[in-house]
Amino acid sequence: MTATDSQVRQAVVRPQVQPGKLFIGGEWRAGTRHSDVIDPSTGRPITTVAEATEDDVHDAVRAARAAFDSGQWAGMSGRERARVLYRVAELVRRRADELVAVESLDVGKPVALCRAVDVATTAGHFEYYSALAQSLDGAVRDIPLNAHAYTRREPLGVVGAITPFNFPLILSTAKIAPALAAGNTVVHKPAPDTPLSALLMAEILTEAGVPDGVVNVVTGGAETGEALLRDPGVDKIAFTGSTAVGRHTAEVAGAALKPVTLELGGNAANIVFDDADLDKAIGAVIKAFVFNSGQFCMAGPRLLVAEPLYDTVLGILGDAVAGVPIGDPFDETTVIGPMAGERQLTKALEYIDLARAEGAKVVTGGDRLDLNGGYYLRPTVIAGVSADSRVVQEEIFGPVLTVQPFKDEDEAVMLANSTPYGLAAGLQTQNVSRAHRVAARLRAGIVWVNDWALLDPAVPFGGVKQSGFGREYGPEALSAYTTTKSVVISLD
Ligand code: NAD
Repeated sequence: MTATDSQVRQAVVRPQVQPGKLFIGGEWRAGTRHSDVIDPSTGRPITTVAEATEDDVHDAVRAARAAFDSGQWAGMSGRERARVLYRVAELVRRRADELVAVESLDVGKPVALCRAVDVATTAGHFEYYSALAQSLDGAVRDIPLNAHAYTRREPLGVVGAITPFNFPLILSTAKIAPALAAGNTVVHKPAPDTPLSALLMAEILTEAGVPDGVVNVVTGGAETGEALLRDPGVDKIAFTGSTAVGRHTAEVAGAALKPVTLELGGNAANIVFDDADLDKAIGAVIKAFVFNSGQFCMAGPRLLVAEPLYDTVLGILGDAVAGVPIGDPFDETTVIGPMAGERQLTKALEYIDLARAEGAKVVTGGDRLDLNGGYYLRPTVIAGVSADSRVVQEEIFGPVLTVQPFKDEDEAVMLANSTPYGLAAGLQTQNVSRAHRVAARLRAGIVWVNDWALLDPAVPFGGVKQSGFGREYGPEALSAYTTTKSVVISLD
């Protein structure tokens, strides 16, 4: 890359986000401490962001509390809130190019995928919850007392939303859209590695008419997150991230008796049965582990293949995976960009070394791609792994696929369910009965058949086991941001 290219990239970001500032109570406030944001495709800094202190977080929570208590948002009718949320969806679509540029630069996402998935889904969240905001109804209950009983669905208050680095726009708006639809106010803390689109969204939400203080953004790392978790003014925690930090989040929320939603790590199995349409299945297998450079909680990094197909599938995969376009995320033809940061790349490379040390065979990839100083990892396929090895059991979170053979359906299900995680799973088969039978036996929050990562704001997702609890997306998410109040009126 030339210096001029780099300057162009910096110019993309500078006018569009408020570098170094926090968004509190509808105002941009300069931070007192700052950290660099790195372009993962070059390893060079692109801008700086503020690291919110405990006082900043407290101010943001106070602003959110004041906005909630004023009733200016919670007291609106659902239909009025819906209009604002719909305008957010329209603005996201209108400003799609800016959002794509910022998100791609920050995370290293290929622009074509970022446009089709991240930005489209972000608009979809606001559109979907704009519709649901209009039907947030209670129910009349028929009771054997001389009384009229009904329920009201009410917002919880201030939501503390903490999100990870890999899908900044999608994962934050999966919380913000339903939280706002229900009438809550929000303090959002994005990941320190990829905070830029949260700042741009703050601007878009304001432009759409979300009142001051209803959404606040505090950038920063673990210390900022900890301050948000522990702030007594927060009524609900919505956390997406690793299982380790999720466990800590649950402990803090538990001690304070706060409701919490946890979307945590994953390590999904993708099962290819011997009756699969092989061309289609290979497409699903590749998509499942290279999408977003494998930094996808719902990725399918564990491939289970019916024994008769094992050698054939490995042969096809070796060639096909090596041919997936990897490179500059700003090139429209790129499918695999860099990993989001040096820590993510180093972790994935350590797992590949571990697999080699455990005697596994790297079929393709296995090394860093030397390009512009970026954090590129060639998509990697590893065979000859044992079911209890660390590369199979643990979440690698990179474009790394392990492959294991299985004898029959029972063994496939047993292997698929054999890790501590339970976020997603998939199976490739042309047998409809098998599809339903196996889908029911897989311990996961979502199961895909004959494809991967088919997601929509209307379809709930979330985990079982160590992948967390609670659901995002769908009407389920709206429920998670409301509480039910019963009103019983004597008719005497
Ligand atoms: P992470 O757990 O390191 O960080 C997530 C967020 O928590 C970040 O904003 C971080 O700053 C914050 N944080 C860290 N320590 C904290 C503390 N002590 N108190 C409060 N907040 C704290 O995760 P990551 O590396 O950013 O993301 C990758 C992980 O996220 C993977 O495990 C992945 O599977 C998971 N993930 C899950 C889903 C899902 O929907 N289930 C989606 C995406 C990512």
